[in-house]
Amino acid sequence: MDNLLDHLNEQQREAVEYINGPSLIIAGAGSGKTRVLTYKIAYLLQQGYMPHSILALTFTNKAAREMKERIAEIIGWKYARYLWMGTFHSVFSRILRTEAGKIGFNSSFTIFDSADSRNMIKTIIKQYQLDDKIYKPARVQAMISNAKNALISPQMYAQNKELLEYDQRSKMPVLKDIYRDYNNRLKASNTMDFDDLLFYTNVLFRDHPDVLKSYQERYQFILVDEYQDTNFAQYLVVKQLADAHHRVCVVGDDAQSIYSFRGANIDNILKFKEVYPESKLFKLEQNYRSTQNIVNAANSLIQQNREQIKKTIYSKNDEGERIEVESAYSDILEGEIVSNKIWDIRREKKASYSDFVILYRTNAQSRIFEEALRKKNIPYRIYGGLSFYQRKEIKDVIAYFRMVVNPYDEEAFRRIINFPTRGIGDTTLNKIAAAARAHNVSLWEIIGDSLGYNLNVNAGTAKKLSAFRELIESFIARLQELSAYDLASRIVKQSGIATEAYQDQTPEGMSRQENLQELLGGIHEFCESRREEGLGGIGLMDFLSEVSLLSDQDTDKEADKEKVTMMTVHASKGLEFKNVFVVGLEEDLFPSSMAKNEFRGLEEERRLFYVAITRAKEYCMITYAKSRFRNGQINASNPSRFLRDIDTCYLNVIGGGFGVLNRPETYTNDLHDYTNTLRTSYPESPVTQRQPIAPHQEAGFPPASPRSNFVNARNATPRASAGVNSGEVQVGAVIKHERFGVGKVTAVTGDPDSRKATVEFENSGVKQLLLKFARFEVV
Ligand code: ATP
Ligand code: MG
Repeated sequence: MDNLLDHLNEQQREAVEYINGPSLIIAGAGSGKTRVLTYKIAYLLQQGYMPHSILALTFTNKAAREMKERIAEIIGWKYARYLWMGTFHSVFSRILRTEAGKIGFNSSFTIFDSADSRNMIKTIIKQYQLDDKIYKPARVQAMISNAKNALISPQMYAQNKELLEYDQRSKMPVLKDIYRDYNNRLKASNTMDFDDLLFYTNVLFRDHPDVLKSYQERYQFILVDEYQDTNFAQYLVVKQLADAHHRVCVVGDDAQSIYSFRGANIDNILKFKEVYPESKLFKLEQNYRSTQNIVNAANSLIQQNREQIKKTIYSKNDEGERIEVESAYSDILEGEIVSNKIWDIRREKKASYSDFVILYRTNAQSRIFEEALRKKNIPYRIYGGLSFYQRKEIKDVIAYFRMVVNPYDEEAFRRIINFPTRGIGDTTLNKIAAAARAHNVSLWEIIGDSLGYNLNVNAGTAKKLSAFRELIESFIARLQELSAYDLASRIVKQSGIATEAYQDQTPEGMSRQENLQELLGGIHEFCESRREEGLGGIGLMDFLSEVSLLSDQDTDKEADKEKVTMMTVHASKGLEFKNVFVVGLEEDLFPSSMAKNEFRGLEEERRLFYVAITRAKEYCMITYAKSRFRNGQINASNPSRFLRDIDTCYLNVIGGGFGVLNRPETYTNDLHDYTNTLRTSYPESPVTQRQPIAPHQEAGFPPASPRSNFVNARNATPRASAGVNSGEVQVGAVIKHERFGVGKVTAVTGDPDSRKATVEFENSGVKQLLLKFARFEVV
């Protein structure tokens, strides 16, 4: 191909060519940050770097895929295929699977999605008989998540005076216990939530310097997109991996930092220079995405923020139209204004529906636009609504998969124990759960030995429970030998899911059938493409690890279709569209009522608005309604204060001024205050810290847990761990089982992965143990 540097401007080229040290690229929206990363990777390959020694971390897996495709176009699939690219979560979950034993997990651990986590938190709140108006599950979940992202373990939490005082003040003194129980149960289920993937990677690197060293040697160059939205756990992982060679390049825009509610920390950008004093700073100033008017309007908006890095950004594209601002009497009319405008532009400019996006602050706003578009027969898709893998029928099937891969998975168990209906009711489930808590084992183990655990159920129920267990075991037995597709088809058939779905001939039933077909089709495709690419790993476990980490953007199958897109502003990061509608610019909505009284919160909302406007290439319209149906009633609403932040010379206000109320800005405490408490509770403020210190000190980790003598050195919590490297147990060995006591191994049979030991126990008779899951130590 021609010289790849020819496709870059001077500033971009310099940033790409600098490869012998750390670099930070700070630049406004649309200036080619992502493009620079892409070309830099291609350039590194040209310079002789091996693809598997380059690690690139992106905001979505889709972004990684697109980047990879682009690199393949430039330099060929031969190289691009082996690049390590993906989100932090997907890349580090792969590492954790390989190293699971070292942190007290089984490598078949399953991953909780956000709904699973919330369900488990709900169950715990119920157990403590707490008021869920105070202990709101979503809020508890967010607080735990923030703690994890700040690398604060339950033990540390319970000892942190400031956090405990904060919880007292917010009338949630039991939070520390919920956090502890939640984590214990995740571990007992051999599951991790999303935040654990980063948390445990840090634990792994802290406790196993040899492992850290091997990954430091593997990743010779590390690149991170959207660096402004990394949190402390992510920052630390990158820092540790890059410690050996300092070949790290991060790109970001502080003005687009919009995830602080998830613990993202803009300080990570600000302190880059302190962590890497020799680092080089690059700025990109030309915006290639948008018209001059859009760039200037966005600049005038963001200048109202007090906290920001100064930068210049200009466009040499056409001057373009002014941004249109229009008010509607009601939310319903707002929907009509937007749909009419889409209709008009499409006709005038012969635009395609896929060139339009409607951006809103909250998901709830989508309904009105759906109705308005439907009325006009305009096709649309909602991005990040209920994504494919979140649909009930799909989650049910996936829960079966999860049970088969990891039978300890509690949420999966709860989901399918009585689906399809097999006469096991809530009473029984509650009994199982109570027994599991009493014996500190998983639900699965309880039904494996209901007599031994004194599960008080009648003979009929006991029979149903063992039938269920046998069903799952029959799938487990085939896990290694069958491909994901073959096993999945078998599960769908033999579990009764297929029969259940095909009996229902209502339209809803039909759509469920289609979704099941689609899922199986997708699994088939997964197996085929893995085979074709010669990548291996076509088992159910491989499939599951991939789908558990897909974000809404990744599962978006309709992206290229002729449809108008709707999504939240948060989800739109990094994307671009010709025509953008930013809707609902009203006080208490955008900015949200939660954020508007807090300085940091308000500035973050303004950045969010900046992100929204800067998605537009050619045309941008901003709307607001004067009344809106919210919380069961119609309320009058006021135009957003942000409207007056944009210089009016870039606006075309339809129907005159918008009469924004001039109100003093007063701030009170809210969740941001909590995040700040977490922030200040680091032993050293990362910003002021000058000397690199040991990672565990820096993160304020608890001391490393003592190594146990459990087989496989599952040193964290031996109770929760199971599964034995079957090569290590031989006939004649004396073992001590958690429940059955001391016994002697008299036979070992089966393939490495379904290996069973026959053990004669001193007090419990002869038992067969599936080594993969049995809990014992060799005496
Ligand atoms: P954001 O902050 O929104 O993530 P970004 O800084 O990552 O934006 P890119 O998405 O990389 O910006 O680039 C914006 C658009 O400009 C893309 O369509 C990209 O292809 C184009 N672009 C960037 N640089 C150049 C260039 N030198 N020549 C032509 N097009 C360019
Ligand atoms: Mg980008």
